Amino acid sequence: MTSYFLLSKTFIILLCLIHTIESQSQPWSPLDAPKELLQMLIRDPFTLSLASTDFGHIIHQTPFAVFAPSSIQDISKLIKFSNSLPIPFTIAARGRGHSVNGQSMTNDGVVVNMTELNNNNNNRIVVFDDYVDVGGEQIWIDVLHASLEKGLTPLSWTDYLYLSVGGTLSNAGISGQTFRFGPQISNVHELDVVTGEGDLVTCSTKKNSELFYAVLGGLGQFGIITRARIALGPAPQKVKWLHLLYNNFSAFSEDQEHLISFNGINESNAPNYVEGMLLLNQPPLDLSFYPETDRPRITSLVTQYDIIYIIELIKYYDINPEIETLVEGLNFVPTYIFEKDVLYEEFLNRVHSDEVTLRQQGLWDIPHPWLNMFVPKSRIADFDEGVFKGIILKQNITAGLAIVYPTNKSKWDDNMSAVTPNEEIFYVVSLLRTTGFDKLEEFQIQNQQILQFCKDVGIGMKQYLPQMKTHEEWVEQFGHKWEVFEKRKAQFDPNKILSPGQGIFN
Ligand SMILES: Cc1cc2nc3c(=O)[nH]c(=O)nc-3n(C[C@H](O)[C@H](O)[C@H](O)COP(=O)(O)OP(=O)(O)OC[C@H]3O[C@@H](n4cnc5c(N)ncnc54)[C@H](O)[C@@H]3O)c2cc1C
Repeated sequence: MTSYFLLSKTFIILLCLIHTIESQSQPWSPLDAPKELLQMLIRDPFTLSLASTDFGHIIHQTPFAVFAPSSIQDISKLIKFSNSLPIPFTIAARGRGHSVNGQSMTNDGVVVNMTELNNNNNNRIVVFDDYVDVGGEQIWIDVLHASLEKGLTPLSWTDYLYLSVGGTLSNAGISGQTFRFGPQISNVHELDVVTGEGDLVTCSTKKNSELFYAVLGGLGQFGIITRARIALGPAPQKVKWLHLLYNNFSAFSEDQEHLISFNGINESNAPNYVEGMLLLNQPPLDLSFYPETDRPRITSLVTQYDIIYIIELIKYYDINPEIETLVEGLNFVPTYIFEKDVLYEEFLNRVHSDEVTLRQQGLWDIPHPWLNMFVPKSRIADFDEGVFKGIILKQNITAGLAIVYPTNKSKWDDNMSAVTPNEEIFYVVSLLRTTGFDKLEEFQIQNQQILQFCKDVGIGMKQYLPQMKTHEEWVEQFGHKWEVFEKRKAQFDPNKILSPGQGIFN
C-alpha cells in the first residue's frame, strides 16, 4: 500500500514537472495579450486550418492564432507586444497565401490576415496622375480596375493578378514586361512598412532607404508592407497577342534576346511583353490558344520534334500594328505564327479564366510542386540540353506549364534584397506543375534532380520564390548579398519574428 502511494505521488510530481516545462516552453499565452489585441486573435479550427495551408498544398503549419487587424496600428501593436515577451512569438503576414512552400505560415505563432485591412470600407487604392497609393493587402486586379477608370495602368505585372501587392513586392513580381520596366519592385516610389520592432516607417530611395531596399524582394523578413506607391502610365486599349513556334532552341533564344533588346520604349516595333513556353510531346497537349483547324499540324510538329518552343509576343495598341514589322527578321518555323486581338484587361487577366476552369475541374486546390529559377544567359543552352531534354522529356512526368523568357539585370536595382544571377541577361524558367497527392513525391524528386544538375554543372542559377532547406543553401542563394541581408535583419527585426515560413532565420 505504502509503495503504491509513493509510486502515484512520484507520478503526480512527474506530471507537474512535465506541465511546468511545457508551459515554460510555450512562448506566450493569449491571456497575456492586451484586451484590444485579444479580441482580434481568432482561434476557431476553421480559421486556423485556412491559415495552415497555401497554394502549394505541400507544407502545413498550424498557427496559434490568426490576427484580424482593422488598422495598421493594430499590426504595430501586435508586433510590439510580441517583442515585449521574454520569448517573442513569430508573426507571418498572409496576403493571399499563394506561396507554394509555406512562406506565409507559422507554427504556433500568429498569422496576420492582411485582407482584413480591406474590411472597413477604407479607401485603400487611391489613383493620382502618375502613381497609385495601394494598401499592401490589395490585389493587383483591383489596382488595375481602379487605375483603368482614370485611363492609367501600372507598368509591370505578374502573369496572375489575384496576388497581394505586399506578397509580390516581397519577392519581385515578374512577367513579360519585366525586360522593359523591370520587376514590380523597380516600379515602387515609396512604401509604408511596419518593421519587425513594430515601428511604422515611410521609406523610399531618399528616405529611410535601407528599409526600402531591404523590404523590396525581402521575403517578408524586415517589415510588413502596408502601403505602396506604384508608378502608372497611360493604359493602352488593345493587345496584339502573337505565338511564334520554333523547333530549335538556339533560334528561339536568339530571337527572344533580340526582342528584349528593344529597350527604347518609343521604338514603334518594340514589343511590350515577351515570354516563352514549351510544348512537349507529353499529354496533355494544351493547344487552346490556336484555331481548331491548325491544331493537327501543330500536334504533328510536336510529335516530330518532341519539343517545340513558343515565343509569346505582345504589342499594345490603339491603332492596329503591322504584324510583318513586329516579327521582322525572326526565325520561327515558317507559317507557324498565330495571332489574337484582345482587350488590354483581358490579356492581363488571362490566367483568371484558366483558374475558373481548373476550379471547376477540381484541379486548383491540389499540390503545386513549382520550381522557379533565374538562369544566366551563358548557360541557358546547357539548361535546355540537361533539363528540358535531359530530365523533363526523358522522364514520364508531365511537365505542366513550362515558361522560359529572358530579362535584363540592368532593370533591377541591386540594392534591393531580390537576388538575380551575375549576368546582364538571365532567363526566367518556371516549371508550374499541378499533381495529385499520390504523385507529389515524383515531382519533388524531379525538382531535386534539376537543382542537382544545375549544381553539378555549375549553372550559376538563382531560385525565384526560393525554397531552401539549410542555412548554407540560403547563404549560397544570396551570395554577395547575404551579409547585408543578415545585417538588415538584425536592424529591422532583431528578434527574428517575421515571416518564419521562409525558413531563413527560423
Ligand atoms: C497562379 C499563380 C501565378 C503566379 N504568377 C506569378 C508571376 O507571374 N510572377 C511572379 O512574380 N509571381 C507569380 N506568382 C508567385 C507570387 O507572386 C508569390 O507567391 C506571392 O508571394 C504571392 O502573393 P500572396 O499575396 O499570395 O503572398 P503570400 O503567399 O500570402 O505571402 C508570401 C510571402 O510574403 C509575405 N508577405 C505577404 N504579405 C506581405 C506584406 N504585406 N508585407 C510583407 N510581407 C508580406 C508572407 O509572409 C510570405 O513570406 C504566382 C503565384 C500563383 C499561385
